[in-house]
Amino acid sequence: MRVIIVGAGFGGIAAAIELRRRGIADVTILEKADRPGGTWFHNTYPGAACDVPSHLYSFSFAQRYDWVRLCPTQPDISRYVHDVVAEHGLSDMIETGTHVTACRWDDAGRRWTVETSRGERTADAVIVATGQLHQPATPRLPGEFAGHSFHSAAWDHAYDLRGKRVAVIGTGASAVQFVPPVAEQAAHTTVFQRTGNWFLPRRNHRYPRAYRMLVRRVPALQRARRKGLFWYLESLTASIRHPQTLGRLLAIRSRLFMRYQLRAHPELRERIWPDYTFGCKRVLFSSFFLPTLARPDVEVVTEPIERLAPTGVVTADGRTHEVDCIIYGTGFRTTDFMFPMEVTGAGGRSLAEAWKGGAHAHLGIAVPGFPSLYVMYGPNTNTSGGSIITYLEAQAGYIRQALELQRDRAAALSVRPEVEAASDREVQARFAGTAWTRCDSWYRDESGRIVTNWPGYMREYLEQTKRLDPGDFELVS
Ligand code: NAP
Repeated sequence: MRVIIVGAGFGGIAAAIELRRRGIADVTILEKADRPGGTWFHNTYPGAACDVPSHLYSFSFAQRYDWVRLCPTQPDISRYVHDVVAEHGLSDMIETGTHVTACRWDDAGRRWTVETSRGERTADAVIVATGQLHQPATPRLPGEFAGHSFHSAAWDHAYDLRGKRVAVIGTGASAVQFVPPVAEQAAHTTVFQRTGNWFLPRRNHRYPRAYRMLVRRVPALQRARRKGLFWYLESLTASIRHPQTLGRLLAIRSRLFMRYQLRAHPELRERIWPDYTFGCKRVLFSSFFLPTLARPDVEVVTEPIERLAPTGVVTADGRTHEVDCIIYGTGFRTTDFMFPMEVTGAGGRSLAEAWKGGAHAHLGIAVPGFPSLYVMYGPNTNTSGGSIITYLEAQAGYIRQALELQRDRAAALSVRPEVEAASDREVQARFAGTAWTRCDSWYRDESGRIVTNWPGYMREYLEQTKRLDPGDFELVS
């Protein structure tokens, strides 16, 4: 059985390791970039780091005992991905510089044709592991800016920010990390905030030497910590699921922290304060962002942006904020998933057509009418409280079971439409009463449906994906 995986980020790597380990050996990963790593390969902005502890932002089967701080930085993660690829001998199965443009199911031949920038391939199964955070979203603002500009996911390291007047548009998880180092360098920084955020502290200092030595000598300590952190992350999800009770408590913690950080700047605090329920958008972890906003050489603009002018950014109050450079920290086209890749399933039906009312898939993995096509980090599998790596490992295990079933019993598998429809209804119903429903966010598609996030806990997803029920699939012979 020949399997093609699209994308060599954490998802594609998890799948390849799982398949190889269970004897499915003819696996190729096609990766558009020059190196594996996915979003962590592309996002190299200053300060890029993860705010999930390494114990969980790493594979369960590739834990390390030499981490130097709680949360990994982008270089730490890049190195980790590189090492895991080497340790598992995956290098020979990854074809970098290969951009997949289309996947077409051949009803008669019972297999997939995968079109790439380097020619066509065929496969008995395709795993689309392109994730939700790989297509930068740059707003189309009217007008033209004559200076320099770039997106945080395509950082221009050749551009020297020293002495420049810099505009940053957006105040999401990425901007919160890169604004402090940018403000250190730039002559003046103007931060354009459209919506306020809830913050919790995160300093991420290096561990003391004695602690690092202890972890190396007593690996059980790290394992126990991983378990503890798992439950801590589950408690964050609990606070989003129960905004009136647990959510309130954490919101108080956040409020106290934010008030303390901006204790000398009440006017600024009022302007940047979020106006929606704690946890509805991603809660941001930083002890450095709010103090940076209070710097004398930083201005926060909350007036809506109207247009670009050759010399800067014009806001609704008619003011032109003159800058040399604009950095877009405006996030990703999360609800596009693998598009604009063309995916055509049984009977020539396109995935774009199947998802025109919003993306949905059984457990975020299997789409009716698309035999032996599996999605990783697909619809409703993003997490606001947990670690995506936990979800990816669960998906890799589930997909491996599907492929074993295919290998033993059928030419292809197709999830039953009624099974997928029922699980989609269940997922959507689980959002009721949660903080996620209380504002607009990138978790929603144009129709307002929440299509990116899993509405529950990591442990529920692990439970539901643990054993594939063959009855959920039609066997295509
Ligand atoms: P993001 O969370 O989507 O934030 C985008 C920001 O740009 C928001 O503040 C948004 O405002 C603003 N924006 C978008 N379009 C705009 C426009 N036309 N005019 C003005 N402002 C505009 O993107 P991100 O910061 O790149 O983060 C994306 C995701 O990546 C995160 O949610 C997270 O899942 C992941 N990430 C994770 C980490 C980590 O540590 N684990 C770090 C970085 C990123 P609104 O809020 O009003 O839409």
